[in-house]
Amino acid sequence: MSIAKVAIIGAGHIGASITRAAAEKLPGVSVTLYDQSEAVRTRAREIKLGTIADNPQDAVRDADLVILCVPVGAMGAAYESVKDALKPGAILSDVGSVKGAVIEAIKPRADIFFVPGHPLAGTEQSGPDAGLAHLFENRWMIVTPLDDPRTEYQAAVEQLTQFWRALGARTDTMAPARHDTVLAVVSHLPHLIAYNIVAMAEDLEAVNEHEVVKYSASGFRDFTRIAASDPIMWRDVFLNNKEAVLEMLGFFTEGL
Ligand code: NAP
Repeated sequence: MSIAKVAIIGAGHIGASITRAAAEKLPGVSVTLYDQSEAVRTRAREIKLGTIADNPQDAVRDADLVILCVPVGAMGAAYESVKDALKPGAILSDVGSVKGAVIEAIKPRADIFFVPGHPLAGTEQSGPDAGLAHLFENRWMIVTPLDDPRTEYQAAVEQLTQFWRALGARTDTMAPARHDTVLAVVSHLPHLIAYNIVAMAEDLEAVNEHEVVKYSASGFRDFTRIAASDPIMWRDVFLNNKEAVLEMLGFFTEGL
């Protein structure tokens, strides 16, 4: 693998987990992070997450691989903030839970290789303290390559795949549109239902909070764990995969 320098934009749960995993499993690879939040950058330094840059351009300047780890709705802005500093030939990737909208938002420079992806791993936690070195072990990383005819593009896909395998993930490739349909069924709709069931229980006057906590069986407790996920991240997922989520919601309602 010829990836020696990695830049992570967004030092939250997923960005910090990639950093921790790389430190453990790829000791020869250096990782530099940047986050737009000064509080996150300060915290990342306190917990010795890695090298923290003060601006996005410095983070990516020499990087062989740049991974955008920001909410789906912020991917376009994150790319714009690093675009002019990317090394020619660099691989640009992302971890967004929706692929079509991210590909729509990023118009890559002609001299780089944009290979989108989505690791199917995560918890309800967010922020740099939620970085887990083992998060990706035996979990799927779905790589969603573009229709790029350049011969070097296939090599970039292979490099990214090797990087994720080295972090312990199982990898697969899928067309971006297929990814968004499949994930609407297995992830996005279940989160939407969990948020709404928990909100309904909170709003019900007939059942008080004490009863909800006291009598919640494991099924409802699982819903509350899922509904504790970051609302900004999930708002972006629902809004950016609206068509597929609404279609699946239609099938679900019919079944009900
Ligand atoms: P997170 O813990 O909230 O971290 C995201 C970080 O990105 C925040 O610190 C945020 O700062 C920062 N950020 C936002 N816009 C930025 C920009 N333009 N430049 C630099 N930093 C920026 O979120 P996460 O859970 O790691 O999720 C990140 C991505 O991974 C999302 O696209 C999500 O769909 C995907 N993903 C998540 C999971 C999961 O289970 N969590 C699993 C797989 C994939 P502010 O707080 O200031 O906005």
